[in-house]
Amino acid sequence: LNRETFDINQTVFRTGDYGDAAYVIEKGCVEVLVGADDAPKRVAMLTEGAMFGEVALLDRQPRTATVRTLLPTSLVRIDRAHVEELLVRADPVIQYLLRLMLERFRNSSGGVANAEIQAARAAAISQPGMDLHSAAVHTLSLAHDLSDGITHNQLALYYQPIILLHSNALVGFEALVRWEHPKLGLISPDEFIPLAEKTGLIHKVGEWVLQRAISDWKHLRGLCVSDTQHLPFLSVNLSAPELSGAGMAQTVQNHLAAQQMPPHELRIELTETVIVSSLAAVSHTINALRALGIGIALDDFGTGYAGLDYLQTLPFSSIKIDKAFVAQMHTAERSFQIVKSALELSRQLGLTTVAEGIEDLATAAALKEMGCTYGQGYYFAKPKPLQAVQDWAKT
Ligand code: C2E
Ligand code: CA
Ligand code: CA
Ligand code: CA
Repeated sequence: LNRETFDINQTVFRTGDYGDAAYVIEKGCVEVLVGADDAPKRVAMLTEGAMFGEVALLDRQPRTATVRTLLPTSLVRIDRAHVEELLVRADPVIQYLLRLMLERFRNSSGGVANAEIQAARAAAISQPGMDLHSAAVHTLSLAHDLSDGITHNQLALYYQPIILLHSNALVGFEALVRWEHPKLGLISPDEFIPLAEKTGLIHKVGEWVLQRAISDWKHLRGLCVSDTQHLPFLSVNLSAPELSGAGMAQTVQNHLAAQQMPPHELRIELTETVIVSSLAAVSHTINALRALGIGIALDDFGTGYAGLDYLQTLPFSSIKIDKAFVAQMHTAERSFQIVKSALELSRQLGLTTVAEGIEDLATAAALKEMGCTYGQGYYFAKPKPLQAVQDWAKT
């Protein structure tokens, strides 16, 4: 801790000073003065435990008040560098809300009307601030709409066929959520899932997806071929916040029981990045789901940043090779090698492999040749609503 001690009647900082720290009074007493130097007005008297100077600390603006000691005083100093480190990691919406509150505070507290200071402030706030502003407003209104959208039935679940490469038979589906926004049209999950994760709405989205997928399964299951080696399955994507909450395994089990869906026909897809970001929090749930007999797939394989040790620590039953590698395996030697090693690794660990993003016959044929069991991609079929996927399977 940084301590600063002051005698009686000393100035801690002056109006207009550059504010690079906030203070907590450990012992003593200070007065807060605003107005011109020759006619200062006392607006507050603060004693032990109080904090001051935090506004300039957060918004990088000059001090709007002068603080003087009324007694010998000891202060604990909180440096900007430390707080900023925390702030830059904060969500843009939080940053923006904080900035708005500070601006409002400044405007209402009769801060100095010094033209120079005002100009400096305008420059500092408006430039980088505008982007932050429009981004935050967009995010906030979308988050609000999403919350509405969930209750007003705007979510839809699409199903994309998964194919057994050696026979081209249909063996399963991946459920992919869509948001039919009344004004903006179809919004991609790549846009609204991260938003839902940030705002906590993901729990409602995930609950809806699980419930819908599991109850639709009875209409999909019969479309799949099933032999003793390849049982039909339905894949559902779950994200970290959903898995870190307690009771998730129980929720899944309840949905399965309600629809009499055998646990081994459900497969949960998790992304590598998700696992890396919160391994401890999610591993309990993952183990519990696996213990129920539910399959666990490592999604987007190859795009994460961690080593491979989690393949050893978590009970995966399959991996999905990311479409980034699959799409380029014919044109980029590196992608081809990554796909090849992923298949090799998967085989050695006794896992099944799904290659996603197959867009042409050549890619499907190559993957089959290389021993990849399952394939998924526009070449076979795009994700479709339940009715459309039923029609597709019958033709
Ligand atoms: P993902 O799990 O990696 O899903 C595969 C994505 O690739 C899907 O995008 C799918 O439509 C797309 N895709 C499939 N075949 C092809 C192909 O041949 N070519 C190309 N270019 N793309 C193909 P989508 O449906 O937009 O989903 C994006 C991501 O959103 C998903 O990536 C997944 O991470 C997330 N997501 C989707 N539904 C859910 C959900 O219900 N819950 C959660 N938590 N996340 C979801
Ligand atoms: Ca997936
Ligand atoms: Ca994927
Ligand atoms: Ca993905």
